[in-house]
Amino acid sequence: MRAPGTYTSGTRVRYHGSLTHEHGEYVIADICECPECDAADADAAFYRIPRQPRYVLAAAPGAAAYLEHVRPASLTPPEWSSP
Ligand SMILES: [Zn+2]
Repeated sequence: MRAPGTYTSGTRVRYHGSLTHEHGEYVIADICECPECDAADADAAFYRIPRQPRYVLAAAPGAAAYLEHVRPASLTPPEWSSP
């Protein structure tokens, strides 16, 4: 079962995190697997709290990574309604 706050790559999201001047719509490029985020994962495992992947965001599908280490709490799923 997919935990709340997890996204697959290619999903459009709205970023509303601490970098207020970067607020806007992005696409999930990947899960951030830099040493810092890996360490956060290890901490989560140690304290037995749910693992919260952090993400790399791009401006558009296939575009270069733009924002890294983005917590799911800083993201909102796509808001448009289906036709
Ligand atoms: Zn990272």
